[in-house]
Amino acid sequence: MPRRSNQSDPEKLRTQLVDLLTDFEHRIASDDLRAQVKDLIPAYHLLRDLGSSLIPGDVAAARDRILHYLTTYPHTVIGGEELMVVAGISEWARRVRELRVQHGWPIITGVSVHEMVQEESLLDNEVMVNMAPDDYMLLDITPDRDAAYRWNIANDIRKEAGVGVREKILKYLRENVGHIVTGEELRYVANNKTEWARRIRELRTEDGWPVVTKQTGMPELPVGTYVLEMDRQSHVHDRKIPDAVRRTVLQRDGYKCQMDGCGWHIDEYNRADPRILELHHKKHHAAGGENTAENLITLCNSCHDRVHADHVELK
Ligand SMILES: [Zn+2]
Ligand SMILES: [Zn+2]
Repeated sequence: MPRRSNQSDPEKLRTQLVDLLTDFEHRIASDDLRAQVKDLIPAYHLLRDLGSSLIPGDVAAARDRILHYLTTYPHTVIGGEELMVVAGISEWARRVRELRVQHGWPIITGVSVHEMVQEESLLDNEVMVNMAPDDYMLLDITPDRDAAYRWNIANDIRKEAGVGVREKILKYLRENVGHIVTGEELRYVANNKTEWARRIRELRTEDGWPVVTKQTGMPELPVGTYVLEMDRQSHVHDRKIPDAVRRTVLQRDGYKCQMDGCGWHIDEYNRADPRILELHHKKHHAAGGENTAENLITLCNSCHDRVHADHVELK
């Protein structure tokens, strides 16, 4: 049961706690185990009350204290034990989940970030690499108003029988074209199977879906998130490009369409009227063109379509 003292003056609570622990000295000397344990209970409660009293104002609900703490330190790795202190209840992790699922706060966990790092060549991202499984991070200081609806969709797709993880993830992404989707959501769609991050990478590197991350197409994206930029697969001959090569080409080309007179930049991305960046093989893959940075060039999808339709030769 969530419980909280009526007192919210940290100094008063601290003094009471010190008094209790001082009195506990003679209990340690006794050999009555049961009495020792029972005497320690009020100290536990006081310690919790002290932790929750640190949140200013009269924030009665543990969930709101957690939210206050996370919104005070957004984009920051927060240890689960910090949330335990400010929540003052043992079920704090459930409250974090409610904030995410019912209230739409984009809170990622170290567990999903860790699994994402393995697949997304993110080893140079210090924040992500150093997140422990019990860490949390709030990605945005405004909640997503559609979150409850989105988690419902995720739940429906998750429960579908006879459908593979890759298909489920693709289905969810296609329900959310142009929207930032957290690794938490995709992991949930995949029934928490650790393969989820690999399946997402395969959608991009094998099937040519423009599902991008901070490192593979959209540098402004928060860590731990994905976007399916557009509901379209790349041209067959432009699929199967490894992420490392993709990153090199995008960085070399400054995230801009390299067609003369175009120069569309990824910062202009607008999900209402999306254009995306794609990689094109100058010498077609089928014709023996290699998957190397030298043979690849960055084009926006509209220039890319024209290049293919008109058989334009690019150098
Ligand atoms: Zn192409
Ligand atoms: Zn273009």
